[in-house]
Amino acid sequence: MTADIARRHTQQRQVVLEELRKLTSHPTAAELYEIVRRRLPNISLATVYRNLEFLTKMNVIQKLETSGSKARFDGDVSSHYHVRCTRCGRVDDIHGLPADLVGGEVSNFTSYEILGHRLEFVGICPECGRRQEEDDVTNVS
Ligand SMILES: [Zn+2]
Ligand SMILES: [Zn+2]
Repeated sequence: MTADIARRHTQQRQVVLEELRKLTSHPTAAELYEIVRRRLPNISLATVYRNLEFLTKMNVIQKLETSGSKARFDGDVSSHYHVRCTRCGRVDDIHGLPADLVGGEVSNFTSYEILGHRLEFVGICPECGRRQEEDDVTNVS
C-alpha cells in the first residue's frame, strides 16, 4: 500500500516535469495544472504546486520571481533572460544575450559579495502589438 502511494507520487512528479519541459510559455501553477489534469484526472492543484516547489528546490526547474505577477515556472534551468508582456503577462525567453550581462560590472558599485541577479525585461508582445494596431485601424475607419 505504502509502495503504491510512493509510486503514485513519483509518477505525478514525473508528469508535472514532463509537461513543463514541453512548454516554452513559462506557465503558472494553475495553467500547468490544466494540462497535467489531461493525463492525471485526479491530481489536485495543490499537488501540482507542491511538486513544482519541490522540483524548484532540487534545481530541476526554475521558478521565475517576476514583479507583481503570479509565479511562473520554467523547465529550462540554463541561465537566460526573460521578457514579460505588460498587457497579457506572457513571458518569453530571450536567446542570444550574454548570460552574465551585468554580473561582472556590479561588483564595482557594491561591497556585497554578489551571488547572482534577477533581471526581467518588460515590453509588449507581438500579439498584443498587433491587437493594438487593429484597434487603431478600427478606431480610424
Ligand atoms: Zn501580450
Ligand atoms: Zn525561460
